[in-house]
Amino acid sequence: MVNHTADAVVVGAGIAGAATFFQLASLGAGRVLLLERADLRSSATSGTGGFIQFHFCRDAAETRLTQASLPYFERWDELVGAGNSGFVRSGYFRLEPERRADGLRERVAMLQSLGVETSVVGADDVARLAPEIRTDDVVVAAWEPDSGYADADTMVAGFIAAGQRLGGEILTGTPVTNVRSAGGRVTGVVTRDGAIDAPLVVLTAGAWSSGLLAPLGVALPVEVWMTQWLGVEVEPALPATLPTIGDGISGSYFRAMRPGSAELLVGLGGVGRRETTDLDALEESIPEHLGATARDRVAARLATPRTVRPTVWRSGPVAQTPDALPIIDRHPTLEGLYFTAGDCGTSFKTGPAIGRALAEWALSGRPEVADITPFSLARFASGV
Ligand SMILES: Cc1cc2nc3c(=O)[nH]c(=O)nc-3n(C[C@H](O)[C@H](O)[C@H](O)COP(=O)(O)OP(=O)(O)OC[C@H]3O[C@@H](n4cnc5c(N)ncnc54)[C@H](O)[C@@H]3O)c2cc1C
Repeated sequence: MVNHTADAVVVGAGIAGAATFFQLASLGAGRVLLLERADLRSSATSGTGGFIQFHFCRDAAETRLTQASLPYFERWDELVGAGNSGFVRSGYFRLEPERRADGLRERVAMLQSLGVETSVVGADDVARLAPEIRTDDVVVAAWEPDSGYADADTMVAGFIAAGQRLGGEILTGTPVTNVRSAGGRVTGVVTRDGAIDAPLVVLTAGAWSSGLLAPLGVALPVEVWMTQWLGVEVEPALPATLPTIGDGISGSYFRAMRPGSAELLVGLGGVGRRETTDLDALEESIPEHLGATARDRVAARLATPRTVRPTVWRSGPVAQTPDALPIIDRHPTLEGLYFTAGDCGTSFKTGPAIGRALAEWALSGRPEVADITPFSLARFASGV
């Protein structure tokens, strides 16, 4: 039976919750408690593709949030100090056909105006830097030399270890069933094992957030899907220098599973996406059509014939908002309750800054790391 008091409670140990836990502890929030309903492998974060790139940023606000997160991927030791980010600066090519050339140029111009290192390049540039990639159908591409991929599991473990060093505590296998309040203030949470008193509660429960916020009068405009990535083994192996590829022509993206690995991690965009109400219903074996699609798309993008064989797959939930941007907010009337939700399947790359922003907001009344006002829930009420 849990019977605790804490100065701050964080609910959910994905990237947003682990980052918030660490940041609250490092900003002097006092006794910080991180509650996870299951284990550290149960989150969307643990199943993430781990791609860190700017091309998917929909607007300036999301770009700035990604820029604010980048130092955590690149300078983890200095900023967090426990574990590592596993960041690999592979570079990223986004390949597009003629019909999407204008859109790509606009996206690159938007990113450049905000200081992101990216440029519009041609098929010959792709062929020069990645000769293993077939480019005869590529009309235009974007190049991001500083982008790459990171290791979600080591980052979550690192944030948690660093928070624990600062006096924070984590309880796994501890689902929060509801948030308590009195007199217009948050007073704590109720877990399956008992109540915990706390004047500050941050909900970072990912696709599970609606169930916690609805009883507090907050309706999240989200649809929940399951999506996935697959691992494929490529023979003969591709070189360790292969950049990350966003193949806008087939709607796929892939990268080395880990540096030097003969396996690629492949995302298939909307293929295999399915709406769900059971976020824990995992299929064990690779669905045949997904394995075949991953195999065929990767094989078709390679310059010379290679054998491509599906090996593993991983699926996880995405909570999609109407404008495909996340929600980062506080409760409109209850003092002391902050939350992020509606991850839109792209919030691993922004998770470190989301955690920092929530901690700064909760402790000093103002997020400093980035402007998060564009992510308020109220934007939907005003007709977005
Ligand atoms: C297959 C896949 C590939 C992806 N690829 C990328 C990518 O390449 N790049 C990118 O930027 N993003 C990607 N994403 C999206 C990214 O992984 C998520 O946006 C991000 O990890 C969400 O983090 P989170 O901390 O908000 O939520 P989560 O990681 O889902 O964490 C929420 C946690 O809260 C816990 N929880 C829920 N309810 C409760 C409760 N009542 N009590 C206690 N704990 C609770 C859950 O168990 C979970 O651990 C991908 C997502 C998927 C599924």
